[in-house]
Amino acid sequence: MGKDYTNIKTMKQLELQIRQLENDAVKCEDIIRKDLEYAAYFYRPRRLISSIGVFIKHFVMNFFRSMVIILGLGVALNACSSGGDPKEFIYSIDQFADIEVLRYQVPNWDALTLQQKEYVYHLSEAAKAGRDIIWVQNFKYNLPIRKVLEAIIEKCEGKSGPEFDEFMIYAKRVFFSNGIHHHYALDKIIPGCSMDFFASLMDEAGCSDAKEELLPIIFDPVLYPQMVYQGTDKDLVAASAVNFYEGVTTAEVNAFYDAREVPGDPRPISHGLNSRLVKVDGKIVEQVYKVDGLYGEALKVIIGHLEAAAEVAENDLQKRYIAELIEYYKTGDLHIWDRYNVSWVSDVDSDIDFINGFVEDYSDPLGRKATYEGIVQYRDKEASRRTEIISENAQWFEDNSPVDPRFKKAEVKGVSAKVINVACIAGDNYPATAIGINLPNAAWIRKEHGSKSVTIANITKAYDKATEQSPKSVLTEFAWDQEEIDFCKKYGSETGDLHTDLHECLGHGSGQLLPGVSPNALKEYSSTIEESRADLFALYYIADPKLVELGILDNPEAYKAEYMNYIRNGIFTQFTRVELGKTNTQAHMQNRKLISEWVFEHGQDENVIEKKVRDGKTYFVINDFERLRELFGEFLCEIQRIKSEGDYEAAKTLVLKYAVNIDPDLHKEVRERYAQLNLKPYRGFINPDIVPVEKDGKVIDYKIVYGESFIDQMMEYGRKYATL
Ligand SMILES: [Zn+2]
Repeated sequence: MGKDYTNIKTMKQLELQIRQLENDAVKCEDIIRKDLEYAAYFYRPRRLISSIGVFIKHFVMNFFRSMVIILGLGVALNACSSGGDPKEFIYSIDQFADIEVLRYQVPNWDALTLQQKEYVYHLSEAAKAGRDIIWVQNFKYNLPIRKVLEAIIEKCEGKSGPEFDEFMIYAKRVFFSNGIHHHYALDKIIPGCSMDFFASLMDEAGCSDAKEELLPIIFDPVLYPQMVYQGTDKDLVAASAVNFYEGVTTAEVNAFYDAREVPGDPRPISHGLNSRLVKVDGKIVEQVYKVDGLYGEALKVIIGHLEAAAEVAENDLQKRYIAELIEYYKTGDLHIWDRYNVSWVSDVDSDIDFINGFVEDYSDPLGRKATYEGIVQYRDKEASRRTEIISENAQWFEDNSPVDPRFKKAEVKGVSAKVINVACIAGDNYPATAIGINLPNAAWIRKEHGSKSVTIANITKAYDKATEQSPKSVLTEFAWDQEEIDFCKKYGSETGDLHTDLHECLGHGSGQLLPGVSPNALKEYSSTIEESRADLFALYYIADPKLVELGILDNPEAYKAEYMNYIRNGIFTQFTRVELGKTNTQAHMQNRKLISEWVFEHGQDENVIEKKVRDGKTYFVINDFERLRELFGEFLCEIQRIKSEGDYEAAKTLVLKYAVNIDPDLHKEVRERYAQLNLKPYRGFINPDIVPVEKDGKVIDYKIVYGESFIDQMMEYGRKYATL
C-alpha cells in the first residue's frame, strides 16, 4: 500500500506510471499481479485496461494480472462448451480482432437479502441507463453509427460470407469501444469490408438516408482519425474527435476556465467536469449535463432508477447521498457533486456501494471533462474475511519472522483491504473494466475526508479463470511438465491472491528502521528494495503451516504453486515485456528478478532451482521447495537489514548485480515463445442480467442470469437503454 506510491509526487507522474504499467500489461501475462498492487490502489478503472478511459484515479494492479492475456482457441470452442460439464462456468465467450470478451460470475448472490438485491437491481438499471451518454461523449457521430449497425444486424440476420463477417467484426469492435475509435489506442477503426458492401447493407436495413453523412466518417481515414490527438503539432482540442468541445481552441478553453478559478480556494470545485464547451455565433457557451440541459433525457431515466433505489437503500446515509446525486443531476451544480462525494466517501460500512456519474477525465485531452461511468458492487465477505484474519494476526507474523529482532516492530498493525464483487459495470467502465478503484478524485476531499479503495475480486477471478481455461497460455508454454501446469491451475489463483494479501496487509507494514536512519537512505534503490522486502515476507509466510492453522489455506503444499509461478516469472517470463536490448528498469520487475536470481544463485550448489533445456526451450524447475523457503527467509533477513540500517551501498550492489541486466539469449527466447502464443491484448466483459422473479404480481426474488453472447447483449442494451 502506502509504500508503493510514496515516490509519486503528482497526478501526472502517477498517470505516467500507470500508463507504463498498462503498456506492460498488455504485453505479458503473468506478471502483473504483484506489480499491480499499487495500481490497485491508484487505479483508474478503465485506464488500466483501456487506455484513456479509465476509471479510478488511482487504480490497481493487482489486477494487472488481469491483464493477463490469453489465447483462446476461439469462439467456437468456448461458446459451445456450455453444453459440457454443467458445473464449469465458461468465462471466455467471444474473440475478434485484438479483443477477447469474457463474462464474470456474481458469487454469493443469495447471501444478499431481497431488499439488498432490489437495491443492486435499481442501481444497476441506473448505471446502464447512462450508456448512450458515453457513446455521444466519445464522438458526436457514434450514436447514429451505432444505430445503423444495430439496424443492419437486426435486418440482416442469417446473412453470411466473408464481407459480412468483416462487417460483423467491425460492429463488434465498435460496440466494444463504445464508439468508432479503438478503446485503448484511440485511433479510428476502419471496417474490413468495402464501402460499397457497407452501403448495400445500409440500403437493406432502411438506412439509405444516412449514407452520405456517415460513410465518409466511417471509411475515410483522414476524417476524425483520433479520439484524443496524440501528436504535438496540432491544437489538442481541435484535433481530437472526442466530443467535449466544438469550435474552440485549447487557448480558449484554458482562458474560459482560468477565469473561473478562485485564487486560494481550499475547496475548489472541478470546473468544467460535467459540460461541453462550444462556440455559438462567436461566443463560448458551456452546455452543462443536467436534466434541462445536455443529456437531460438520459439523466431523467437515471434519476428515476436512483429514486427507486433510494426506497430500498440499506441505510439513511445511502439515502442521503443518492438524494444529493439526484440533486446534482437536476442542477449540474458542481458544489453539490462535491457534497455528494463527501457523503459517499464517508460510507464505509454498507455492504452495497456504487459509482454513478461523470468521474474520470482521461478522455479529455485537457484533463478536465469527465466521462460517464457506473459500477454496482457488494462486499465479498469471504475474501474480506481472509484479509481480516491476516491483519488480526499481524503481530504473530512479525514476532515469528526470521529477521534480526532489532529490526522488528514491537507493535505492528495489519491493513485490511476491502474486497468487493461487481454486479454491474457500465458507461466508460464497460465492457473493458478496471480491477480496482480509488475515489473520489477531488484532491481536497481526499485530503479532508479520505478516499475509498477497493479491489474487485470477481473480475480478477474471471481473468484468472479464463486464462486457465484457455488451451494455450504463458503457463502451458513455460511450465516444465503437465504436473506443474495442473498444480498451478489448481492452486495458482488462490495462492496468488494470498501472496498479494500478505504483501499488502503485512509485508509493507512490517519491520522498522534503526533510530536515526532516514526513510530515504536507499534513494534510487528504495522502491526495488521495499517491494522485495514485502514480496519476501509474503513468499516466506505463504509456506508457513500457520496459514493452514488459521484456516486460510487447506492444503499445506499449495504454496508450491506460488513458488513455481513466482520463479518462472521473475527469472524468465516477465521479460516478454522488455524490448530486446533494453535493461530491466521497472521497480516491481526489478524486485522479482532480484529475488529469483538471488535464490537461484544461492541454491545452486544444492540444485534448489534447476535450469533445464528441452527441444531448444529453457525451463526453470524447482527441485527443493523447503530449501527454497529457507533461502527466501535468509534473503528477507538481508533485505530487512539493508532497509533498517539504510545500507545504500549494499542495496546498490544487489540491484546492479541481480536485477538490471537480462541474459540476451533468454530474453530473445522468451520474446519469441511469447509471440507465438498469439494472445489477445485486450479483454472486457458482458454483464450478467439481474432478473426480477414475480409471483402474484409481486417481486419475490432477483435472479442472476448469465448471457452467452456479446452481440446479443449489445443489441439488447441498444434497445433497452436507448435514451438519447
Ligand atoms: Zn508493494
